[in-house]
Parts: sequence; C-alpha cells; structure tokens
Amino acid sequence: MTYENVKIHPAVDGGVKKGSAGFGGGTLHCNCASDRVEVKVSAQTAHNHVCGCTKCWKPDGSVFAQIAVVGRDAVSVTANEGKLKIVNAAAPIQRHACTGCGAHMYGRIENKEHPFYGLDFVHTELSDQSGWSEPQFAAFVSSVIESGVDPSRMEGIRGRLRELGLEPYDALSPPLMDAIATHAAKKSGALPA
Ligand SMILES: [Zn+2]
Ligand SMILES: [Zn+2]
Repeated sequence: MTYENVKIHPAVDGGVKKGSAGFGGGTLHCNCASDRVEVKVSAQTAHNHVCGCTKCWKPDGSVFAQIAVVGRDAVSVTANEGKLKIVNAAAPIQRHACTGCGAHMYGRIENKEHPFYGLDFVHTELSDQSGWSEPQFAAFVSSVIESGVDPSRMEGIRGRLRELGLEPYDALSPPLMDAIATHAAKKSGALPA
C-alpha cells in the first residue's frame, strides 16, 4: 500500500530533496506580487522539519509547515522591512509576518532563558535557491487535527510521512526534546550546569 496521494507540503510531496554540502545560505522573499519583503540568511539551516502545529505558517492548502532553524546573527531583513509585523508579541517565538501576503519571514526568540535562544526559525521554501538542508522528521503531527484535519485521515498522513522518511512525532524529535529537558535540568540543578 502506498500513500503517495496524501499531501503533506509542496516541498516534500514529490519526495524529499537532499540539501547540498557546502551550501552557505540565500535569500527568502515573501509572496507579494510587488514590494516583496526580503530576508538574507547567510548560513545553511539546521533541524529542518515539517510541522503540524497551529502556529507555524503554512502555504495555502498545506496541512503541514516546513520550518528550519539558523543562528539569529545570520538573519537580516534586506528589503521592505516596514511590511513586517509580529504575529503575537507574547508568544515565545515572535513570528515576523508580511502584512501584505501573510508569509512568516522569520521567527525570533527574545527570551534569553529559552532553550532555543539564539536560533531563528525560517521557511526555506520562500527561497529560489536550492541546497537548503532537507526536512528530517515531522513534528507535532497530531496537532493537524486542531486545524481541522479529520482524525480518520491520520493513518494516511502518518503513513505518507514514514514513506517520505519523515518520522512522525507528536512533539519535537527526541534529540530536540532531550535538549529542552537538559536545559530545564541544568536550570533546576537536577544536572550540573
Ligand atoms: Zn508579502
Ligand atoms: Zn510548528
């Protein structure tokens, strides 16, 4: 049995394309027809994954988002910054979205105590370049139900994710969950800092 008709995200529906060794970054642009917001990302991304949470920006009709991290020092807005607005300033990740087309250009963590402080979240599908790190797993898969996916579709969705080599998790991947728990244990003193 194959699940190839189950749509996940346009960037992976035709198969996951491997990133290029030595790729050093590129430019993201929003989906406006003119006066596009441009963001320069001057490094390769890491921990790319598809995400089913209700907070990540998804292209029209897509069940999942595709999202990666990169050091915040590598991210700069190079055009039409005035169109950006923070979606929710109270959220741990401040997502800077284009007020024209809705695309999230980058998500930034300002709380220095956050386990992922120092990393920005970016959607590399907004770039015309290829070579960005490929998605490696699927996060918050059960959460797609919260955005209206019928629970009866979950078997097909998880089947397709496995077929694509994107192991489905209902939180983040084990290495990232371990990193968060380690950060908490060092803060509480359960592990030496
Ligand atoms: Zn836009
Ligand atoms: Zn997400």
